Amino acid sequence: MASNKSLLILPGDGIGPEAMTEVRRVVDWMEHNRAVKFDLDEDLVGGASIDKHGIPITDEVVEKAQNVDAVLLGAVGGPKWDNLDFSVKPERGLLRLRKDLELYANLRPAICFDALVDASSLKPELVSGLDIMIVRELTGGVYFGEPRGIEDLGNGVRRGVNTQVYTTPEIHRVARVAFELAKKRDGRLVSCVKANVMESGVLWREEVTIIGETEFPEVELSHMYADNAAMQLVRAPKQFDVIVTDNLFGDILSDCAAMLTGSLGMLPSASLGDVDEHGRRKAMYEPVHGSAPDIAGQNLANPIATILSYAMALRYSFDMPEEADLIETAVQNVLAGGMRTADIMAEGMAKVATTTMGDAILRELDKIGN
Ligand code: NAD
Repeated sequence: MASNKSLLILPGDGIGPEAMTEVRRVVDWMEHNRAVKFDLDEDLVGGASIDKHGIPITDEVVEKAQNVDAVLLGAVGGPKWDNLDFSVKPERGLLRLRKDLELYANLRPAICFDALVDASSLKPELVSGLDIMIVRELTGGVYFGEPRGIEDLGNGVRRGVNTQVYTTPEIHRVARVAFELAKKRDGRLVSCVKANVMESGVLWREEVTIIGETEFPEVELSHMYADNAAMQLVRAPKQFDVIVTDNLFGDILSDCAAMLTGSLGMLPSASLGDVDEHGRRKAMYEPVHGSAPDIAGQNLANPIATILSYAMALRYSFDMPEEADLIETAVQNVLAGGMRTADIMAEGMAKVATTTMGDAILRELDKIGN
C-alpha cells in the first residue's frame, strides 16, 4: 500500500457539493481498486463558510490547505451572497487560497472528446483530437500591478489606471512549469504576449527564451503575439501543444480555447505553486465553471469537470498518471456510449442526471480498470 496522500475537499456552493459527491465515489473506487489511500478532509469555502462563520474562508481552512498535497474545490458563489461587500463575497475565499498558497501557474487543458466534436462551435475536423494545455500566470501582471485606481482630474474628467508589471523571477517560475509540461507532452511551447507594444512583453519574451535555452534545450520554443494566438486558436487550434502566457492574455486565451471543446461542464483546471522543502508542490484543482445557481440542487449538473479536476490532481500532485488516464478514458467511453447531462445534450443521446452520470463512470471504471 502506497503512503497516504492528503486531499482537502472544499465543495463550496451551488452545484459544487453535488459534483463533489460524484468525485468522492471515484476517490472511493481508487482506494478499493488501486493500492492507494487518501487522507480526506472536507471543509467550507465561499457562501457555505459565510453562513457558518461570517467569512468566505477561515484561517483554519487556509492552514489546512497549506498542509495537504492537494486541494480540490467545487465552486463558490450564488445570489444569496450577491449583495455582500466585495471584501467578504464568496469569491474572496477562492482568491485568498490562490494568494496565500501562491498558486502562480494556472493550467487549463482544452481537450475535445471525440464524442463531443459536434458541441464545438468549430468544424469537427478542426477540433477532433484537440489536446492543448494553456499555462496562465495567475498572481502577477496587470490584475495586481501598482499603481492602480481611478483618480479625479477635475473638471469632470477621471482617469483609470492599472499597471502591467512582471519581474524576472515571476516569469522564470511560470515558464519552468510550462517547459516541464511541454517536455512531458509533445515538446512544443508557444509563448504569447504583446512584445511588439509592451516593455513587460519584451522582458517576458527575453526571459522565457533564456529559460528555454539554458534549462530546456529539448523543447521547441516559439513566440506569438497574443492577438495572433487568439486568431490561431479559432483558425487552426491543433497547431498548439503548450501555450504559456501572462495573467491578462491568459484569462482571454484560456476561455477562448475552452469554448473549442463544447461545454463549461467538461473543463477542469489546476493551479500550481512552488515546491516546498518536502518536495511537495502547492496545488489546487477545480472545475472552470461556477456554482450554476440556476440548476443547483436539481441533480442536473454535469460532474465531469470536477471528476476530471480530480484526475488532474492524480496526474500532477500524486504522480499517478495511469489512474488519471483511466478516469479520462472512462469519461470518454461513457460519452461515446451516448450518455449526456443536459448541458451537453444532443439529438439521439440519452439525457441523464448528475448521479446517473456518476454511476456510469464508476461502471466504466469497473469495466476497464480491473
Ligand atoms: P456558471 O459557470 O456557474 O454558470 C454558467 C452557465 O453554465 C449556467 O447556465 C450553468 O447552469 C451552466 N453550467 C455551469 N457549470 C455547469 C455544469 N457543471 N453542468 C451543467 N451546467 C453548467 O457561471 P455564472 O452563472 O456566471 O456564475 C454563477 C455563480 O458562480 C456566481 O456567483 C459566480 O460568481 C460564481 N462563479 C464561481 C466560480 C468559481 O467558483 N471558480 C467561477 C465562475 C463563477
